[in-house]
Amino acid sequence: MRLLAIEDEPELGRLLTSNLGRLGLAVDLAGSLADGRSLLATCSYDLILLDLRLPDGSGLDLLRQLRAARNETPVIVVSAADAVEDRVTGLHEGADDYIVKPFAIEELAARIRVVLRRPGRALGTTLESGNVTFQTISRTVEIAGRGVVLPRRELGILEALMRADGRVVTREGLEEAVYSLEDERQSNVLESSISRLRKRLQSEGATIGIRVVRGVGYRISEAADTPETLEAEP
Ligand code: CA
Repeated sequence: MRLLAIEDEPELGRLLTSNLGRLGLAVDLAGSLADGRSLLATCSYDLILLDLRLPDGSGLDLLRQLRAARNETPVIVVSAADAVEDRVTGLHEGADDYIVKPFAIEELAARIRVVLRRPGRALGTTLESGNVTFQTISRTVEIAGRGVVLPRRELGILEALMRADGRVVTREGLEEAVYSLEDERQSNVLESSISRLRKRLQSEGATIGIRVVRGVGYRISEAADTPETLEAEP
């Protein structure tokens, strides 16, 4: 799950990226409308956190633009306590929810979950492959009916592969799902996360495995372990 936070207060921006990151959400931070627009032009996001008072204009303008362009990415407006009118306008212009500063991260996380759970969002709340289920809202994994706790990157990799439903996910696709722009992208980090996830699936008795598609990427395979899984990484 990848979020864009358009927020010009550096301290709040840092809190958002670190705290939401701990919940397994990759957060890219933009400090202005212009930065937000350029990220939106190059990356795809599952949700946008949108501050309204930005150095180069109002977040409402961006919201209007997105909706006019039929971009339905969920938007949660982050507004100052004294900006009631802006909030109302935001909802009229197609925001999915708003939150008032200052707020607790737990409250924001709860609202993000609610927005992503709404019907009509093509997110699917339960992914299933073999005896593995992935709840995309609570980000919990069960293997053979038992809850399994996975680290953040491994969760992101598993989610991306399960969303692809057996289709190949490129290495770049996995990196996009797992890292925010701020994370250092060392190639061996992705590989070692995949290798740990693969071992974990095996040790927990999963009936699915991760298959290397040479030179292309990775996909979920239904047979837990096949010779291909032991081949060199692409
Ligand atoms: Ca602001």
